[in-house]
Amino acid sequence: MFEPCPCGSGKTYLACCGRLHSGTPARDAEELMRSRYSAFARGMTAYLQKSWAAETRPLTLALDPAQVWTGLEIERHEATGPDTAIVRFTATWRSGAQTGRMTETSRFRREGAGWVYIDGMID
Ligand SMILES: [Zn+2]
Repeated sequence: MFEPCPCGSGKTYLACCGRLHSGTPARDAEELMRSRYSAFARGMTAYLQKSWAAETRPLTLALDPAQVWTGLEIERHEATGPDTAIVRFTATWRSGAQTGRMTETSRFRREGAGWVYIDGMID
């Protein structure tokens, strides 16, 4: 169980996003963002739903099993208020012979002991 974390932090999965996946609240928006990327990479739809703001959360979430997430780069993490923040990132993926990348600026807010994802603007 010493596999590297999918989010590319350089830590092991258990010492990084695995903690959040097993219930530890995110300390900041970037940590939550990383844990959501890792959840996409591992097909953890329940965690994605749980870390999504109630008003924007999709009722159902189906991930494409052929799409493999291959990398995450955080470009910016910035507070936009006492309890809100944005994170800009680029994620890369592969699906069969195809590869691609998406850049998104996501909005997050503090909720309870942790943070939730609100929505994002894709470039
Ligand atoms: Zn991680």
